[in-house]
Amino acid sequence: MRKKPKVIVAGGGIGGLSAAIGLANKACDVTVLEQAEKFGEIGAGIQIGPNAFHALDYLGVGDAGRARAVYIDRLIMMDGMTGDEIAHIPVDEPFRSRFGNPYAVIHRSDLHGVLLDACRAHDSIKLVNCQRVVGYERTACGARVRTESGSVIEADAIVGCDGVRSKIREQLTGGDALRLSGHVAYRAVLPIEQMPEDLRWNAATLWAGPKCHMVHYPLQGWRTFNLVATFQTEVENVGVNEPGNREEILSRFGQIVHKARKLLEIPTEWRRWVLGDREPIENWTDGCVTLLGDAAHPTHQYFAQGACMAMEDAVCLADQVERSQGDIASAFQAYQENRIVRAYRVVLSSRMLGRVYHAEGVERKIRNSVLGAKSPREFYDDLQWLYGGTGLAA
Ligand SMILES: Cc1cc2nc3c(=O)[nH]c(=O)nc-3n(C[C@H](O)[C@H](O)[C@H](O)COP(=O)(O)OP(=O)(O)OC[C@H]3O[C@@H](n4cnc5c(N)ncnc54)[C@H](O)[C@@H]3O)c2cc1C
Repeated sequence: MRKKPKVIVAGGGIGGLSAAIGLANKACDVTVLEQAEKFGEIGAGIQIGPNAFHALDYLGVGDAGRARAVYIDRLIMMDGMTGDEIAHIPVDEPFRSRFGNPYAVIHRSDLHGVLLDACRAHDSIKLVNCQRVVGYERTACGARVRTESGSVIEADAIVGCDGVRSKIREQLTGGDALRLSGHVAYRAVLPIEQMPEDLRWNAATLWAGPKCHMVHYPLQGWRTFNLVATFQTEVENVGVNEPGNREEILSRFGQIVHKARKLLEIPTEWRRWVLGDREPIENWTDGCVTLLGDAAHPTHQYFAQGACMAMEDAVCLADQVERSQGDIASAFQAYQENRIVRAYRVVLSSRMLGRVYHAEGVERKIRNSVLGAKSPREFYDDLQWLYGGTGLAA
């Protein structure tokens, strides 16, 4: 009988936990090394498309994920300068039956919690906290990781799921630069009572403005609303999850109609992120070491697909490991080949969408005219490549 491969997963976010479940389901012994003191996610919402639910189904946690999600009826784009609707995409029954799963919104802790419960219940997954991975070495029969505390852990393979500032990626690529676009996101979660009644829509609503946009949707069984406001700035620093500044956010949305802008006055606490992605690379694999999720293809959030892609990656990785009959290096190579076009299509499309959301002048008029003329069927056709995917090899 073949020995069970021992795999180290660096990072216990949505990508890392999904990878751990996928690989453990394919007879690997998985150890997840997470730098934080506890496994968890930030307090904010996330949108997940049918492709993510396909991935969760493959990992065996689709029902648990669906049970914690909120099912919105529409994705709406509003013109923030006039308050008029530009377009909407219905995501009700016809959408669900076309794509085989819903479009939903969910609190990140709920999604992460579903994955964490599955990891804890799995005999072949070990979860280890307070282990910051700082690098790796290839060995004659596998690889080893080094952690900040001085531990050296041997394995047959390593999957770097350590996010946009991945240490595994830094070593694997020789350190490619984070691409800072000058886009900054502010996040807050409002109790439902604080959400203005005229905006309590069962939708993911996007208000598009000049060099800025904001998004809101219900969460946690309609007990809260998620709010994300994004703007472009010249100042490029690298802050992540730092306290936000109310004056800064209000000053960036001066041209947005009061109906939407008033939302920005409500939160007493904002968290602020400077957003970045990276240029696509041809290779994110080094023998039995590979990358997954944001470590491999960090993206702007404009397609709401970064986490969905991480879950799809996990499906593809597990599938290739199963097919490879113990040859991990060729499984990782096949995984990369199967994921690279799709994941980077999301990265590049997200950049383009950022421009669409922040359009001004003639670009804004073109956007409103083109999107406003589309039927639901046309939107569905445009999105077939994305929502019809499962993460499995094409
Ligand atoms: C404002 C905003 C809104 C978004 N909205 C959506 C959305 O609606 N839908 C969607 O699909 N995506 C969305 N995304 C993208 C999504 O959040 C990410 O793509 C996703 O979280 C990536 O998951 P990951 O596991 O690859 O990385 P991460 O979530 O970054 O997880 C990495 C994990 O690794 C740990 N770690 C990091 N370094 C080390 C180390 N050296 N050693 C050990 N552990 C380490 C971290 O603590 C963390 O737990 C959004 C992103 C932003 C910024």
